[in-house]
Amino acid sequence: MANHIGCASLKAPFQYLGLLVGQNMYRISIWKDIVAKVVARLYKWKVALVSSGMGDFSVSSTRSFIDLKSLPSSPSSTNWCKLVPINVNVFAWRLALDKLPTWSNLANRGLDVLSIQCPLCDSDIENIDHLFFNCHLSKVPYLQVSIWWNLDDIVIDSFDDWVSWFAFFRIYGEAKSWLEGVFFSLWWHIWDFENAQIFANSGPRAAVLFDNFVTQTFYWCMTRANKNINWVGWLQNPQLAICS
Ligand SMILES: [Zn+2]
Repeated sequence: MANHIGCASLKAPFQYLGLLVGQNMYRISIWKDIVAKVVARLYKWKVALVSSGMGDFSVSSTRSFIDLKSLPSSPSSTNWCKLVPINVNVFAWRLALDKLPTWSNLANRGLDVLSIQCPLCDSDIENIDHLFFNCHLSKVPYLQVSIWWNLDDIVIDSFDDWVSWFAFFRIYGEAKSWLEGVFFSLWWHIWDFENAQIFANSGPRAAVLFDNFVTQTFYWCMTRANKNINWVGWLQNPQLAICS
């Protein structure tokens, strides 16, 4: 049959992608070559990691390593905020690198999407700068944060704007890391809200977005800071509540 359809039959074992295939794979000795290749690959990766001066394999060092190796010229950077969960930090990191699956990013990668317009306002292309900084949905929470934290009006049109604004923003050290957690959390909640609007049968109302975000951020930050913050103080004057 193999000859009839033009395929020569092979005698087992034969080499495929550098590995022997077709032997009795239940025998441990058959796996030795495969294991050796995998170990060699891992060893190379480990040597590269150690030589980069980040050989402790912590989450932050691995993240720095990936930053260093894959994105050496990226103008955007984020800190790792200890006051919010890891998945929120990863999310903020992906936002910084424009790696979120926005409709415009999906279209750029060749996916056949129905529209790249923002599904919340339908007035602009849905990319990270629009969704997180310019859409009417996201403009309101920034105004609310500035009132809540007693800040001057936050005028930000892009993630890079936010990085510059936050880098030079003067605030008591401990409160600044909490404020960073507030922004990470805000972005997470905007994304979550948009996805609920698109994929859930009945998404949440925009009016509850800010309330949910303030409440969730309170529990995230207080738990991770291991600090007892007064809930009313958090709502009325978070800088004072954190620093007192
Ligand atoms: Zn929009």
